[in-house]
Amino acid sequence: MGCWSLWRMRPAAIGYVLLVQALALALVVLVFVTGRRPGPDDLLNFAAIAVTAGATIVVTSVSINLRRQVRRNPWTMHIVYLAAGILLLPTNLLVLLLLGPALHAVLHDRPETHRWLFTTAATTVATFAARLVIGWGEPVWTSVGFFTVGVVLLVVRAAVVAGGIRLRTPEAPRVAVLGEPIDVLLGIVGASLGGLLAVAMTAVPFAALLAGPPMVLLDLASQLPQWRRTAQHDGKTGLANSTHWERRARWELMRARQRQQPVAVLLLDLDNFKRVNDELGHLAGDVVLSAFARMLQDNVRREDMPGRFGGEEFVVLLPGTQCDTAYRVADRIRMATAGLSVATRDIRGEQRELTGLTVSIGVATTGRFDYELTDLLVAADAAMLAAKAAGRNAVTVA
Ligand code: GH3
Ligand code: MG
Ligand code: MG
Repeated sequence: MGCWSLWRMRPAAIGYVLLVQALALALVVLVFVTGRRPGPDDLLNFAAIAVTAGATIVVTSVSINLRRQVRRNPWTMHIVYLAAGILLLPTNLLVLLLLGPALHAVLHDRPETHRWLFTTAATTVATFAARLVIGWGEPVWTSVGFFTVGVVLLVVRAAVVAGGIRLRTPEAPRVAVLGEPIDVLLGIVGASLGGLLAVAMTAVPFAALLAGPPMVLLDLASQLPQWRRTAQHDGKTGLANSTHWERRARWELMRARQRQQPVAVLLLDLDNFKRVNDELGHLAGDVVLSAFARMLQDNVRREDMPGRFGGEEFVVLLPGTQCDTAYRVADRIRMATAGLSVATRDIRGEQRELTGLTVSIGVATTGRFDYELTDLLVAADAAMLAAKAAGRNAVTVA
């Protein structure tokens, strides 16, 4: 236990994690003390849900492992059978369903033990909070309670997990704490499916099996944000990749042509970047590219579109921007680049502070080259090469 990274977290985070785990443990003990003896109908319902959940977990785990994919959020499909269990089962059978998410996490991520315990505890607390809404001993389906179960299950788990992430990593981005908007939608779909499943099972317990395929689909859908991110963004810098950038740039140019608004394109190429790689190594080069991309983003407006064109070449589309403004933006980026100081490690692993980075920038505008992206890029590229020829660390307008 001494080597768990739990103990390296800040005291407030450790306290919070232990509190959530203690609460979950207390709930499990309470369940075994207060749970009523399950009847044959309960056991049949439990078996139907457990078989469906177990089969789904195994199918999704095996398929992801076989395809050597990295799983993102293994929570969504578990909402379905947990919601159905909350609505149908006695608490001492409901608690056994919590083995599902726990098993899934182990089959996929083999997470650190304390993380695994924490998310399992968060799921336990949320499940029994939802159960409390519908009746602890015997679930009573009032119309308000029936719908509130899903809301409490989703909100309590999200809040408990978000609290843990915030305390562990206060600087974590919003999306890491709260998840993507699609996670909320999929959570609602899962909870609704769980409600429908519970209703169907009151007529035919083995209707549970029908929830298997939609659960697999939910699991696949929860990977969508990951696929979209990798399809549209460059992994090293987080900027738009060239395919995504070009598609969006063409759309922006079409819109600007209709409105007769000016657009500027900047093409940026880092100077003598090969030297950075040769002196510090490619990993340090990557850190520099990432720092440059962050600086680029900080120096343009929200509506501007920076992208990684390839290698150490970047592009920025500036909608609604005339030539003189585009030049000023480019020169601001040039100066910010010269002022960059990037902390990195060299090939021997020693800490190094890289300074003196420079960039050459070509600017092309629709005022001279019209609204065809290819023409603008060709002109900006020629201007960038002219800046290189003029001695680098310069901005040239085509
Ligand atoms: P110039 O001023 O003429 O642009 O010189 P340069 O050295 O920047 O130009 P050149 O095109 O000769 O070299 C570009 C270098 O960028 C070579 C390549 O190793 C490096 N590079 C391209 N992509 C990456 C990357 O993803 N990571 C790292 N570390 N280096 C990269
Ligand atoms: Mg280059
Ligand atoms: Mg270069």
